[in-house]
Amino acid sequence: MASNDYYRLLGVPRNAGADEIKSAYRKLALKYHPDRNQGNKEAESTFKEINEAYEVLSDVQKRQVYDQFGAEGLKAGAGGHGGFGGFQGADLGDMFGDLFENLFSQGGGGRGRPRSRRGADLKYEAEITLEEAFTGVKLPINFERTEVCQECDGTGARGKTGIKKCPTCRGSGRVQYSQGFFAFSQACPECGGQGEVISAPCKACGGAGRQKKNASINIKIPAGVEEGAVLRVSGGGDAGLRGGESGDLYIQVRLKHHPHFERDGRDLVYECQVALWQAALGGEAEVPVIEGGRVKILIPEGTQHGKVFRVHEKGMPSPAGKGRGDLLVRVKLEVPHELTPRQRELFGELARIAGHEVSSPEKEKGFFKKILG
Ligand SMILES: [Zn+2]
Ligand SMILES: [Zn+2]
Repeated sequence: MASNDYYRLLGVPRNAGADEIKSAYRKLALKYHPDRNQGNKEAESTFKEINEAYEVLSDVQKRQVYDQFGAEGLKAGAGGHGGFGGFQGADLGDMFGDLFENLFSQGGGGRGRPRSRRGADLKYEAEITLEEAFTGVKLPINFERTEVCQECDGTGARGKTGIKKCPTCRGSGRVQYSQGFFAFSQACPECGGQGEVISAPCKACGGAGRQKKNASINIKIPAGVEEGAVLRVSGGGDAGLRGGESGDLYIQVRLKHHPHFERDGRDLVYECQVALWQAALGGEAEVPVIEGGRVKILIPEGTQHGKVFRVHEKGMPSPAGKGRGDLLVRVKLEVPHELTPRQRELFGELARIAGHEVSSPEKEKGFFKKILG
C-alpha cells in the first residue's frame, strides 16, 4: 500500500463532512475505474486504495477508530465494534447504483452491440385529387426509410467472422464488479449484455446493421376517402434494430383543391351561375359531375339566389362501399355587368311595369363615373 493516509488519498481535509468525502470519492472512482483504464496496473491499485479509504471514512465508527489509531488500529479490531465485519453497506450500494448507471451510459454505446429495438413509425402525406378520392386510387409512395442492411443481414458485422465472443464477459453478457466486500452483477458494458461484440464492422452500414434507403411501395387508397384520413401500412416504417420488428408507415390523405366542387362529407357542392332572366323565367342548366360529363337540372320559374337543388346520388361514395352522397347545386344569380341599349330599354320597361321610377341612365352613368373617377 503506497499510502495509509486515507484523507490524503481522497484529497479531503481531516475535518471533511460525509458529503465532501462521498463526492471526492466518486470523482476518483470514476477516474480510476478499471473499466476506463484497461490494462493500467497503476490505476487499478489506486482504485483499490481509494475504495479502502472510502470504506473507512464513510463509516462513522470506523472513521473514529482510524482517527485515533490509524489503519493498524482497524486491522486489530481496536474499536471493539467488529472492525470491518460490522461494515454496513446499504449506503454504499445506493451510491454504486448511480455510479454504474453513469459508467454504462458513457461506456455502453459504440463498441458493443445494442439490443434489439422496434423500428420507428414513419408518417407520409399523400395528396390526391377529388376524382381519385371518388374512384379510389393505387398510388406509388416514394420515401426514405431505414432498412436492414443487405450486406450483413442486420448483424452489423463483416461476414461470419466479424462477430466474436465478448472478451469482457466471455460471452455471458454479465460482468461482476467487486467493490470492497460487495460484488455487483451488471449487464456487460462492452457488449450491452449480448455476449458478442463486432470485431470487424460491416463496410456497407458501418456496424449499424441498418441503412437509409429510398423505398417505393404501392398503396391502395379506397374510394370515398376523406380529407385527413390516415392509412396504416403495418411494418412499412423503419426496420427494427438487431432483429427488432419494423415500425409502421402512416399515410395521411390530403385532397387537392378542386376547381368545381367543394366537399361536405359525402355530398359535393357546386355553385351554378344562373342568369337573371333564366332564374326569373325558369329553364334548364347543365352542371358537371365528379365522374365526368354533365347532368341537366331544372331551374324553376322564380328561382332565388342561394337556392340549393339536390341531385341524388351524384356525390362521393361511402368508404364503406354503400351508396353515394348527393350533388348540391347552389344557385348564384348572375347580374349582367354591361347592358346593350336594347337590354337597358327592356329592363327599364320591366322596372316601369313593376312601378319603379327609373332615372335617366345616361345621366346616372355620368354621375357615378365622376364619383368613381
Ligand atoms: Zn451491414
Ligand atoms: Zn460482454
